[in-house]
Amino acid sequence: MVKRTARRLADNREIIYFDSDPQVVREAEDTRELPAQQPASEMRRDPLTGEWVAIAAHRQTRTYKPPAELCPLCPSAPGRPTEIPESDYEVAVFENQFPSFAEGIPGELATVDGMPMVPKAPASGRCEVVCFTSDHNSSFAQLTPQQARLVVDAWADRTAELSRNPAIEQVFCFENRGEEIGVTLHHPHGQIYGYPFITPRTERMLAAAEKYRAEHGRHVLGDVLAAERADGRRVVVDSDHWTAYVPAAARWPVEVHLVPHRQVPDIVALTDSERDDFARVYLDVLRRLDRLYDKPLPYIAAWHQAPVRVGRDLSWLHLQLFSIKRTADKLKYLAGSESGMAVWINDVTPEQIAERLQRLDA
Ligand SMILES: [Zn+2]
Repeated sequence: MVKRTARRLADNREIIYFDSDPQVVREAEDTRELPAQQPASEMRRDPLTGEWVAIAAHRQTRTYKPPAELCPLCPSAPGRPTEIPESDYEVAVFENQFPSFAEGIPGELATVDGMPMVPKAPASGRCEVVCFTSDHNSSFAQLTPQQARLVVDAWADRTAELSRNPAIEQVFCFENRGEEIGVTLHHPHGQIYGYPFITPRTERMLAAAEKYRAEHGRHVLGDVLAAERADGRRVVVDSDHWTAYVPAAARWPVEVHLVPHRQVPDIVALTDSERDDFARVYLDVLRRLDRLYDKPLPYIAAWHQAPVRVGRDLSWLHLQLFSIKRTADKLKYLAGSESGMAVWINDVTPEQIAERLQRLDA
């Protein structure tokens, strides 16, 4: 059982505590003087690709690599209030102070001045920050399975709630980890974006799944999963409910997909045993990644969930975990082919990276 306590910060942003202890009381007040939130993000649609771009100029002023004693994600202490009013917490989620997508942005669908082919609209939606632990110097990989499970429950809660928001079409839970990825706060945390549209990547995956189903009558990811498990050469962890493998056409020098054995649209649909098993498998994979080089691996963990209202039967939840690090001291940059043409060139074969991860057994 998870205890959930929703509160408000000084500027009326919502904060939600998730606790494994049902007795705990969360009623600390935010004592800061904060200006009222005035989110102003706009989105414009690229007429050449049909894809939306969010323009959030106010984010330039956001907190940039503060010293540890000023971390806004640590619990509050006397004389040092943070984003989290409590003096301790297990998992806390709050609305981002510098959101790319937010509720209540004034304006309506229009076009950019003099450009009738370029629609623009308020970037409606919601951006949240998920603090995985109150321990500043920890990481997701260092959580216990019980702590990781509480994060899964928090993701499920947020996905369910944001899915009920009529402005939101897709919920994206993710973690950026490491300075090389551009992380500006070291405290272990992830983010959740509620987008007001279906993302380009998801649209392409839905189209591919629909085409495959028309030809084969089955889900493409189900067939991929069965083939990976049968072959085994790229499988890193195979468990009761989840398999982690390096995809056969991996784009990144380190890339692992964690896929549930049952087709479910989103984290909300996972059973208790699937959530517990995910926590074990994910921690196992993260710990292998951290042993790959001589220091913790920078990575991006991206949950692929079904859109809120369409394509749910064509979706199969999975986590895509990848790193831009191609050797201990070299980064993979998205250069001409990747950035200009979206054609990835991978210098490492997926079989090589899978073999290395297999050998890094705990
Ligand atoms: Zn901190």
